[in-house]
Amino acid sequence: MSWLDDQKVAISYICRRLYERGYLVATSGNVSARSEGHFLITPRATRKDKMVPELIVECDADGRPVGEDLASSPKPSTEIEMHREVYRQRKDVNAAIHAHPPYCTACSLASISLTEMLLPELAIYIGPVPTVPYATPGTNELPQALKPYLSDHNAFLLMRHGVLVLGRDVEDAFNRLEQLEYIAQVAYLVGSMGSVNPLTKAELLKLTSSARRIGLELSKRLLTLIE
Ligand SMILES: [Zn+2]
Repeated sequence: MSWLDDQKVAISYICRRLYERGYLVATSGNVSARSEGHFLITPRATRKDKMVPELIVECDADGRPVGEDLASSPKPSTEIEMHREVYRQRKDVNAAIHAHPPYCTACSLASISLTEMLLPELAIYIGPVPTVPYATPGTNELPQALKPYLSDHNAFLLMRHGVLVLGRDVEDAFNRLEQLEYIAQVAYLVGSMGSVNPLTKAELLKLTSSARRIGLELSKRLLTLIE
């Protein structure tokens, strides 16, 4: 199977998992993947539980759809500029998922920060997660708001909107998203019980050296914080 066919199947499968896990509803959210010279993204206004490989939109490196019959083909997601900005800034990232998971979205509204390392999973799989100021969905405001955070973070809470999670491939991005929503749920539960103490710098140093020994790639942002 070619990279394109393989990735169209992978993106469709991830869309259905996003829907099943309740990380988005109806037609919301979008998923993209790229490799040298190729860029795939989910179509505009399409339910993710109904996603099939034939609906995934192939674009050139500038985000323009390619194909024989463009007039009748599905149109790319309205958030395509956000995905393009990710790939412009991050050579190490080949997939991005934007979704509306309820606990992460609620954390953005309640000003619950996920920049502190509450759990080891957050430190080793994702790193600090900034809250990006509100930007009008579907406009260029969103990539502009993300720009200052993109170079050294792997996931973002989008104020009043949802999340953006990056990965080596769509499976990697989905794994991070699943971890992130779990962490947001725990942060919410702990917030309703009392105060939260993040991992100390000494604990983070032990954790990151053990994660390095098994070859995990750590968040650049986290490494600058514990230097
Ligand atoms: Zn959205």
